[in-house]
Amino acid sequence: MRGLIPFLLFSFVLGLSACTSQQTTQQVKTVQQKQSSQTENISKIKNVIFMIGDGMGPQQVGLLLSYARQAPNAVIPRLTAFDHLVNDGRIGVSLPYTHDVLVIDSAASATQLASGSSSGNEMTGVDSDGNKTRTILEIVRDQGKAVGLVSDTRLTHATPAGFAAHQRHRSMENEIAIDMLNSDSDVLLSGGWRHWIPKNANIAGSPEQLALQKLMPHAKKIKSKRKDNRNLLLEARAKGYSLAFDRDTLNQATGKVLGLFSYSGMANGIIETKTKNDPNRTMPTLKEMTVKSIDTLAKNPNGFFLMVESGQIDWAGHQNDAAWMLHEMLKMNETLNAVLEWMKGRDDTLLVVTADHETGGFGFSYSGFNLPKPKKLSGEMFKDALFRPNYNFGDPAILDKLYQQKLVYSAIFKKYNKLAEAERTPRALVELVNKNTEFPINKTEAKRILETESNLYYEDGHYSLGKKTVSRIGANDAYYVYAKRHQGALLARVKANDMGLTWSTGTHTSTPVLVFSKGPGTSTEPFTKIIHHTDIPKYLEKAMMNN
Ligand code: MG
Ligand code: ZN
Repeated sequence: MRGLIPFLLFSFVLGLSACTSQQTTQQVKTVQQKQSSQTENISKIKNVIFMIGDGMGPQQVGLLLSYARQAPNAVIPRLTAFDHLVNDGRIGVSLPYTHDVLVIDSAASATQLASGSSSGNEMTGVDSDGNKTRTILEIVRDQGKAVGLVSDTRLTHATPAGFAAHQRHRSMENEIAIDMLNSDSDVLLSGGWRHWIPKNANIAGSPEQLALQKLMPHAKKIKSKRKDNRNLLLEARAKGYSLAFDRDTLNQATGKVLGLFSYSGMANGIIETKTKNDPNRTMPTLKEMTVKSIDTLAKNPNGFFLMVESGQIDWAGHQNDAAWMLHEMLKMNETLNAVLEWMKGRDDTLLVVTADHETGGFGFSYSGFNLPKPKKLSGEMFKDALFRPNYNFGDPAILDKLYQQKLVYSAIFKKYNKLAEAERTPRALVELVNKNTEFPINKTEAKRILETESNLYYEDGHYSLGKKTVSRIGANDAYYVYAKRHQGALLARVKANDMGLTWSTGTHTSTPVLVFSKGPGTSTEPFTKIIHHTDIPKYLEKAMMNN
């Protein structure tokens, strides 16, 4: 193997120079065909599917595995997509940090996963020196392969942005949308039309708004965040994209497709679970977007690169909402099963699944709270005594209760905060929480949760902690940096004992994440060690170079 490394590098450089010298795809292919005799013992990879669970640390995968194996009424088989993936694939570990800090955000992590360059936090498609990166999507695109991005967040959000946009800060989503438009990707499917439509869409009855109402008949909220009047949707259409705004138009789309299915983020996992079998559902699921992308991209005879993000695992983690997180993991599981189904019998596709980082410091834990009743055991050692552990090690029925939650915490508080001021009472919160979750609260707990409300103040477009007071989340106040999410996090804290679990933060942790891979021959070998996130795209590129 050792002697192959310089060759691999040589082949990589050739690929790059081929792109810059504007050689045709055919010429690149001829060069690669000449090399193929020397690379016969390396796996031939035509397609790469790269799935990122945002915030999906080992414990988040563990939540899904516990649910599948231990929930008394689990709705999925005991073996999850991750089991199937590893049963004939590989598993390894990767560290996500950037070179100069311990913990990473999703923008820098996506940049590192996309380009192999060390990045700086909150940058997108920019390296740690502040230069534009070259991403795997761009490299593969210039080789004549098809490329696509799918996310259940927003198309301009940090993870997809890291693959196709180059901006100093992740918040520059209007600029990121333009980069996406110019990325020449074949498939772009996600939410967040607010960064793609002209600002005049905000004026009631304006020609822009009326035209958009016609274009997007199912759109509930036609509002723009743009500061100009560019209509990037029409610009995309002029570039040859089919536009899709709902399931029907997505199904009908042919060729290059830009699909934007929501004003901001797409449906959360709980809504998706509740509505996925509803024939009247208009928003596609993550699985549906992924299947459509693969169908579209696979038409390119040169192969494809597809990045799929299950992005709301992270949002659930920030909110410390375990039920939401479970449903996001179920969404990821269903999507991954569909990808594995498509890969069945193929020997030309490499699938890599990992996380950009862990979110929430989540985990089931044993406690001294609510000890279970001693019970009789039939075995001889307990003939004269009851089984009486000293601690509460967690009841698997908790998993079913999490599954049954009807609204994510942020939606519960959105409803609450919309009530008239006089109606925003502890009793009203008790009612809302107890109607929508399986872990009821009482009035005293509701009071405790609501006490933080007075600590929030709004300034310069941001919620912040009050200057004199601190949040009452607990020992880790400093790690709850999104004041808007404090109410949800407080509810999570109040109910954590009942759920037999703990959260260590409202942000990200440095936890090493798992890397699952499946592909022919030796293509998965590099992913079985302790690697760094910047290694991953290099390995993906190498695998594709050998095609
Ligand atoms: Mg993300
Ligand atoms: Zn995050």
